[in-house]
Amino acid sequence: ALPIVAVVGRPNVGKSTFVNRIVGGQDAIVHEMRGVTRDRSYHEADWNGVHFTLIDTGGIEMGNDDAFQESIRNQAVMATQEADAVVFLVDGRTGAAPDDLEVARILKRSGKPVVLAVNKMDAPGKEDGLWEFYSLGLGDPWPISSIHGHGTGDLLDEVVGYI
Ligand code: GDP
Ligand code: MG
Repeated sequence: ALPIVAVVGRPNVGKSTFVNRIVGGQDAIVHEMRGVTRDRSYHEADWNGVHFTLIDTGGIEMGNDDAFQESIRNQAVMATQEADAVVFLVDGRTGAAPDDLEVARILKRSGKPVVLAVNKMDAPGKEDGLWEFYSLGLGDPWPISSIHGHGTGDLLDEVVGYI
């Protein structure tokens, strides 16, 4: 079986955009699961000859706050259970949110390698928003733009080093 990399994070941080950029034109969805807390799609990915399965988690539905937070927690726990490495995506425009801290806590507890990617950093060099993400306690935050592609290569180099 191929190594598994899971992409986790709050809704709208850009997980699906990121996954689409990585798997690109030759996307093959290997498998899909649907359900509020199980919603995920599995894609074949390749980076410099390293093949792996990339999981896009998503579909967390807005309910009351408790249900919402519980579904974020479930997503993170389930993703870490099956993954060999995790890309934790956060939104560089909104900054670190309370739900990011909650996910960070779960990821740290899992013991799995986690690479912290700060998405929506569309202008390289203007990275003042990056530093507050050190507060998540997951090491260096990697600035990326899933829309433009900036930084995604360096991030993937880091990720495949863990699988
Ligand atoms: P998901 O819910 O985490 O899967 O997020 P989506 O991939 O659906 O993206 C949510 C929104 O953020 C969409 O409007 C995307 O176009 C936008 N988005 C994603 N990545 C970027 C990025 O790198 N820069 C900017 N400016 N917007 C982005
Ligand atoms: Mg999505």
